[in-house]
Amino acid sequence: MTDHNSLHDDWDREHLWHPYTSTINPLPTYKVDSARGTSIRLADGTELIDGMSSWWCTIHGYNHPAINEAINSQVSKMSHVMFGGFTHEPAIELGKLLLEIVPPSMHNIFYADSGSVAVEVAMKMAVQAAIAKSGDHKKSNFVTIRSGYHGDTWNAMSVCDPVTGMHGAFGPALPIRYFVESPSVGFYDEWHHDAIAPLEATLKEHHEEIAALILEPIVQGAGGMRFYHPQYLVEARNLCDRYGVLLIFDEIATGFWRTGKCFAWEWAGVEPDIMCIGKGLTAGYLTMSAVLTTRDVADTISRGEAGVLMHGPTFMANPLACAIACESIKLLHGQDMEARIKHIETIIKRELAPAASLPQVKEVRVLGTIGVVEMKEPVNVGEFQKKCVANGIWVRPFGRNVYIMPPYVITDSDLTTLCRTLISII
Ligand code: PMP
Repeated sequence: MTDHNSLHDDWDREHLWHPYTSTINPLPTYKVDSARGTSIRLADGTELIDGMSSWWCTIHGYNHPAINEAINSQVSKMSHVMFGGFTHEPAIELGKLLLEIVPPSMHNIFYADSGSVAVEVAMKMAVQAAIAKSGDHKKSNFVTIRSGYHGDTWNAMSVCDPVTGMHGAFGPALPIRYFVESPSVGFYDEWHHDAIAPLEATLKEHHEEIAALILEPIVQGAGGMRFYHPQYLVEARNLCDRYGVLLIFDEIATGFWRTGKCFAWEWAGVEPDIMCIGKGLTAGYLTMSAVLTTRDVADTISRGEAGVLMHGPTFMANPLACAIACESIKLLHGQDMEARIKHIETIIKRELAPAASLPQVKEVRVLGTIGVVEMKEPVNVGEFQKKCVANGIWVRPFGRNVYIMPPYVITDSDLTTLCRTLISII
């Protein structure tokens, strides 16, 4: 094993906050020099095979020539212009491309800054629409399923899992939401109607206070890396319709083919009223997200008390980010993505299977390009990553889950190396 101490920057350690990191005893960070394709090059020349897509984002790999070209061409026109009172071709083109691939009932698009902000906007849309429709300000709360993750801003935090999320740290400062048991039937299991009973009971009792149900369709990401049965979404849609509650799909992590479909709603064939997308939208180049909704929701908001949707970020529809997203979607259109994801899934399934028989492993599960090895005990992230770096791969476990979601451009041999090295570390 090589010693990577030279990669840890003392100034960084002293002054820069990294995600979820203590200033007293920070987790090690590794200095990156550059990245290309699926390879991340550290400051000392070490090359790592990327197993994380920089948290679900870099779907085409790093430093993609076509996206770089799209940036260069846009930057020479304008990098940004305010979206209040102006519009521009990249925003329009992206909107058109998006409406071709999202659920058919989506009609209005709101460009936001990040995944968390998209969730805030979606929740604000739901509250404004629910109040406008019912005339009742009481209809402003939310229900969600346990083990979810929706981001780190205030309202997004409030609908994250109350145990694995941040409720402990913020306690009474967070709004109180309705939580129901997470879907008990797995993606590959046989559907059982009991799984929907907790949601049904909560909606029946509290629907008058609930504006919307928010959930991640099919794959619950950072809150537990769980894959659940598509029928849950079908039942949830029916219940929302019965009780006059809007349905929000947070597809920030699942979008852009990560689960094997362009968006995860396609597994169930049911459409949300509001949908959040982000992460892969800009292929890991810049932060941007979008919230999409039906004409009915949009017009209901516009007929309501305020008459407008109450949100308008400074960097809304940033032209550079839009140009990147357009190019990224065109790259996806140029390939048979269903076959590509199936191919990656087959390799991950084959290569991670041996981990299932290890005594310290609880379960191995794979869907699309997401491979999860759930351990029986929590993983020491710092120690685990040290071994990953020493062995040429980049994986960042969370809690008991060691998981990979590589860029779609990964070669078969790199993917095999990634999985085998991961198992040897486990
Ligand atoms: N929703 C989901 C499902 C996510 O996975 C994430 C990010 N992990 C977010 C929301 C928040 O996105 P961001 O970090 O861009 O704010």
